Amino acid sequence: MIETQLIETVRTKQSRLAQTDFDNLAFGRTFSDHMALMDYRDGKWQKPKILPYQNLSMSPCASVIHYGQSIFEGMKAYKNEEGRFGLFRPDRNIERMNKSAVRMCMPEIPTDVFMELLSELIRIDHEWIPAGELSSLYIRPFMFATDEYIGVKASEDYRFMIITSPVNAYYSKPVRVKVERHYTRAARGGTGFAKAAGNYAGSMHPAKLANRDGYDQLLWTDAKEHKYIEESGTMNVMFVIDGVLVTPELSDTILDGVTRRSVLRMAKDWGMKVEERRIAVDEIKAAHAAGKLEEAFGCGTAATIAHIEAIGDGSETMELPDPKERELSNKIMKYFTDLKKFRTLDPHGWMVELS
Ligand SMILES: *Cc1c(COP(=O)(O)O)cnc(C)c1O
Repeated sequence: MIETQLIETVRTKQSRLAQTDFDNLAFGRTFSDHMALMDYRDGKWQKPKILPYQNLSMSPCASVIHYGQSIFEGMKAYKNEEGRFGLFRPDRNIERMNKSAVRMCMPEIPTDVFMELLSELIRIDHEWIPAGELSSLYIRPFMFATDEYIGVKASEDYRFMIITSPVNAYYSKPVRVKVERHYTRAARGGTGFAKAAGNYAGSMHPAKLANRDGYDQLLWTDAKEHKYIEESGTMNVMFVIDGVLVTPELSDTILDGVTRRSVLRMAKDWGMKVEERRIAVDEIKAAHAAGKLEEAFGCGTAATIAHIEAIGDGSETMELPDPKERELSNKIMKYFTDLKKFRTLDPHGWMVELS
């Protein structure tokens, strides 16, 4: 652990807390008083800082703007009614950020420095963590290339930052997803497993076309045959077919979600049969036709669990069972909410309390 005294801290003189309307938060538009940053220069990480939240100033030829060496993470801090607060499995986000960094030819961040800087930032801004039942403080760590050079090559300098944003429930209603049979999110050998900015840029046009057809999200299929299900938007996907929980197996085209891992672990703990394997869209259709498709949901930090109410493929639409009747996804949602509010046992030690 690095000493917190090693973090250079400048506190804001004008907190925006009092003028923030916590009952009406538009997702991702309100930011807390402070931000963390650390620069990579001369081949090493420099002194970490926590500063008042503010704009950045950068060169028009900063490498990130041109060639997109940019990665991010998404995690949350939770608080209960008694004021206890903490993070859910932050070690996994830190590990994944470093995997993304390696793939994008960026420097890794020492785990202890990352954790210390993150913890200190959350402690300083803990009053920004809303305590409502489905509320939280969304945490966005990110890193980008800062070389002032427009040649195509890996940058030598980088900036790592963390900003935070109070949020209420993300998806209030179940989602309609469209099977994507033309566009591709990620191909073998590519960057799909990394939270790399460009992956999301490439998904926006196809997502917009789906929105126009009345869908909330895409259900991506494999790049080669567009036959097998991969994931959805910024969520991994799961199905309950005839009592068995099935989800696409991990590969370099699928983001290794913390929520995904946690759902699989809990389902196994509860004695459910779990399968990580290839799932053809046709298998889902057959299961639905046979009345055996019991649940379908997306899972990710933003929404935790998002019930899928309908799956569209070309001109066909499968309407799925009433979300209220779904056993596993509702049980998981309740368990995670209880866990994050320190109301239930935490046998796996997933919550890291900071209060
Ligand atoms: C972040 C993300 C997920 C979900 O990961 P969590 O760690 O559960 O938040 C799933 N798919 C994609 C493409 C993502 O970017």
